[in-house]
Amino acid sequence: MKATTKNLKAGFTLVEIMIVVAIIGLLAAIAIPNFVKARATSQANACINNPRQIDAVVLSHAHIDHCGNLPNLCVQGFEGNIYCTFATRDLASIMLEDSAQIQRDDAALHVYHG
Ligand SMILES: [Zn+2]
Repeated sequence: MKATTKNLKAGFTLVEIMIVVAIIGLLAAIAIPNFVKARATSQANACINNPRQIDAVVLSHAHIDHCGNLPNLCVQGFEGNIYCTFATRDLASIMLEDSAQIQRDDAALHVYHG
């Protein structure tokens, strides 16, 4: 029986397989970190866009840049617990009341002066 050259060329060489595997590895190295980043971003945006999905807030201290948006968060539907120390709770209460009074005064001034 005589082997033809057509039968000998069937399949892939080792170099061809290695090139394909290298290309797949390169594409995976590029794509996987982007998929992970996109997933984390979409999960974060889902929480930001829907405060009902947030289970709890940890308030580390009562500076207004930390507690100042809590009323807005509650208005947008947050219903979870806010965890903080008793001292932070007491100070945040004062800070938020003071902030609300400043905003009321600013609004009254705006109405008065246009
Ligand atoms: Zn701070």
